[in-house]
Amino acid sequence: MAATSLNAPNAPLLQKTHQTHVFLKPISTIPCQTSAKRFSISCSPTTQDRLSVQSQSQDRVFNFAAGPATLPENVLLKAQSELYNWHGSGMSVMEMSHRGKDFRSIIEKAEADLRSLLNIPENYAVLFLQGGATTQFAAVPLNLCAPGDSVDYLVTGSWGDKAFKEAKKYCNPKVIWSGKSENYVRVPSFDGLELNPNAKYLHICANETIYGVEFKDYPVPRNPNGVLVADMSSNFCSKPVDVTKFGLIYAGAQKNVGPSGVCIVIVRKDLLGNAQESTPVMLDYKIHADNNSLYNTPPCYGIYMCGLVFEDLLKQGGLEEVEKKNQKKAGILYNAIDESKGFYRCPVEKSVRSLMNVPFTLEKSELGAEFLKEAEKEKMVQLKGHRSVGGMRASIYNAMPLAGVEKLVAFMKDFQAKHA
Ligand code: PMP
Repeated sequence: MAATSLNAPNAPLLQKTHQTHVFLKPISTIPCQTSAKRFSISCSPTTQDRLSVQSQSQDRVFNFAAGPATLPENVLLKAQSELYNWHGSGMSVMEMSHRGKDFRSIIEKAEADLRSLLNIPENYAVLFLQGGATTQFAAVPLNLCAPGDSVDYLVTGSWGDKAFKEAKKYCNPKVIWSGKSENYVRVPSFDGLELNPNAKYLHICANETIYGVEFKDYPVPRNPNGVLVADMSSNFCSKPVDVTKFGLIYAGAQKNVGPSGVCIVIVRKDLLGNAQESTPVMLDYKIHADNNSLYNTPPCYGIYMCGLVFEDLLKQGGLEEVEKKNQKKAGILYNAIDESKGFYRCPVEKSVRSLMNVPFTLEKSELGAEFLKEAEKEKMVQLKGHRSVGGMRASIYNAMPLAGVEKLVAFMKDFQAKHA
């Protein structure tokens, strides 16, 4: 990166040492002023990678958005340091040919790191695609069934419902269970499910981002030749997953692993090659698998960012360690809600509460606007629940530091003390 650009008025203070940019400012604390008491919580990066960068986090907020969402601070800083001139190539990753050796090394490393993180076997293809998870709602039936084929959808929230509705255009899907009448608060027992013995696949949304319902284990299709398909957009890489239980996993990147614009598909190779005739070339998984996700120009910069996140997750000790951190963060937030004597309430059944998206309501719903305003003053943003459910929602993906959740919990207790 050129020294001049770093010396711009708002640029971080950097010193270049042996190719590594070292931040000179100390890790800061974010003071949090409320009328009842003052508290101060450290907002240092969650990752181990503190040797190369130190935080400038006084400039950043705690972003509880559901996606696009907060990214690991050290990943952003690394991307910043490589933005202008990637590894001495004389150009930014944004300017590189997707067919050149530099970008190839980036996409190959991203794939290899993701394979080690999730322990993805060789008989699965990993695809970096565009069009978001919404495009996969169509691509999945187009690739896995003929127009008349039966498939099952287990609907535990509005994303699963959207996937089902899209599939109706391309095959014969049936909702075998829906939590809609109960406002999506649970996952059913798998024993009583009326699974179709001929269904080509069983589709689930592993974590419903809006309602905060997360599968903790997975149903098995009744058809021995059928496969389980999961939309993992909002809990991808948040915990270890046994990929071999699935025929296909898809996930938009913009929650846990990168910016929007990249959608990752992990698909068992034997399922490829049977796409419906009318399938657009861009939705045919085999075309992308045969071309290592380089059939056309892929979302290069997004893939690079995902690669940096994968590298960071590996440095943190892999997904077992990441899951422990996520359990701890979610634990303190759900406890605060449950111990609030009804001031805050999370409607989701305890056994399937999401580690990623924590929806909650205020008993005095008229205080919602003030809650959001006060939180924002304390640099905690995007806590508003989805427009279809109201209330609040704290999305606490991998990159949300423990300090962010601690600060939110302290704020919630303080807000309650003021308004109970
Ligand atoms: N599935 C889930 C679980 C989601 O959370 C979202 C986005 N919030 C989508 C699908 C749609 O993703 P995209 O906007 O990338 O198409």
